[in-house]
Amino acid sequence: MTPPDVESKHAPPLAECPNCDHMLPQGLGEIECELCGAVCRVSHEPTVELLTKEKVPCPHCMTVVVAGTGKRPVELTCSACSGIFNITSKIVKVDIQCPACERGLRIRPRPGKRELSCPACKNDFHVTF
Ligand SMILES: [Zn+2]
Ligand SMILES: [Zn+2]
Ligand SMILES: [Zn+2]
Repeated sequence: MTPPDVESKHAPPLAECPNCDHMLPQGLGEIECELCGAVCRVSHEPTVELLTKEKVPCPHCMTVVVAGTGKRPVELTCSACSGIFNITSKIVKVDIQCPACERGLRIRPRPGKRELSCPACKNDFHVTF
């Protein structure tokens, strides 16, 4: 049985590759740029602190468990029921606007160029992160 997932409430701010200025994949530590292959060290102390102190309810028995680590995803064992669960990374979304009708879209950014279709006016456009 796969342990259930609990999504983290905190995430580091999105970082840019110092080499090519594109967005880096979300995360902390050694992150490889998907566009130019540069390995960048991403650190963000306030987020690590929030993640370490983060309290999540055990999905098995609802006892509040402290993460105790800034690592995500991480597997935790509940001290009350010995149930195992994962705390996963928070999924960061960004707000962008359709260039044709200015309708707001909320998307999960991925490094590089991608094509989007506006749900309101069906206009296709590109965004680059
Ligand atoms: Zn790069
Ligand atoms: Zn539990
Ligand atoms: Zn539109």
